Amino acid sequence: LTRMYAPLTALANARVEVMSALVSFERVFEVLDLPPLIVDRPDAREVPNIGTGVAVRFDDVSFAYPAADKVSLASLEEVAQLDSRESGAVLHGVDLDVPAGSMVALVGSSGAGKSTIASLATRLYDVDEGSVSLNGVDVRDLTAESMHRTVGLVTQDGHLFHDTVAANLRLARPDAADEDLWAALRRARLEDLIRSLPNGLDTVVGERGYRLSGGERQRLTIARLLLARPSVVILDEATAHLDSTSEAAVSEALAEALAGRTSLVIAHRLSTVRAADEIVVLEAGRVVERGDHQTLLASGGRYAELYRTQFAGPAPAGAPDVVA
Ligand code: ATP
Repeated sequence: LTRMYAPLTALANARVEVMSALVSFERVFEVLDLPPLIVDRPDAREVPNIGTGVAVRFDDVSFAYPAADKVSLASLEEVAQLDSRESGAVLHGVDLDVPAGSMVALVGSSGAGKSTIASLATRLYDVDEGSVSLNGVDVRDLTAESMHRTVGLVTQDGHLFHDTVAANLRLARPDAADEDLWAALRRARLEDLIRSLPNGLDTVVGERGYRLSGGERQRLTIARLLLARPSVVILDEATAHLDSTSEAAVSEALAEALAGRTSLVIAHRLSTVRAADEIVVLEAGRVVERGDHQTLLASGGRYAELYRTQFAGPAPAGAPDVVA
């Protein structure tokens, strides 16, 4: 996911610097770390509110990346090496429901299509076949602005602007008082660090500012998400190894960010798959299994295999195989 969003985020950043006069709506894109969208239809409508029901639905979705994307993201050498799988559809007939208030975890080996699903759920691309809907409405019929208020994206390396902590946070809610910022920082497990800095909320962070660690950066983007309060969160869990203190702090901050929200998580943590209401297993762009952790583990299929290689970690010597 990082690879895919990085150039877009860089573009979005440049746009903010060049067009700083743009009103907050434009900035909402960056706040929620969402990519710039496809243009609204003339009759596009707002995302309706739903209490219960399905928040995010993929209905028989098939998708191939537009050819131009492959060229822009790869060197010519890489393009020459693209195999037929990469030049064709990357998702095939995917059905997926994320009921309001639930957590669905996506798992699968590298290249299975997890990030692609995240991109379609945030409408970075439109599907070729089938549909993606949010609160019961096809995303192609929704305004970008209302989608961005509804769906928040947390990527592995949250994007920060070269600006103060306060300014980075207020992108999510321009009228937030300092106490609101501190409350969000507290929930994101970042309050102590920011209070310890000589300039506190006015500390400049980002590329040329105070260097936050990867885990701290991610927690600052979580604080921003907590201020933005989207009802749906698309989360790409970090694969990079954080030290255990940072890892614990990020986990707690994420728990705050996901509590009470609908979430679709590209899962890399055992605690996430255990907690998920449903795990969807992808292989080569197809859903091959779905169910909860215990059921899938017991069935001894693809999930059980992934569990051994991705989630369980190396078994202690002499320990019985948990999956056997
Ligand atoms: P990972 O765990 O490594 O992030 P993933 O399951 O998220 O993998 P995707 O990133 O969705 O998988 O990739 C699915 C397929 O789509 C792969 O074959 C990948 O090479 C291809 N792909 C991903 N992004 C693009 C893009 N922007 N343009 C063209 N092809 C892409």
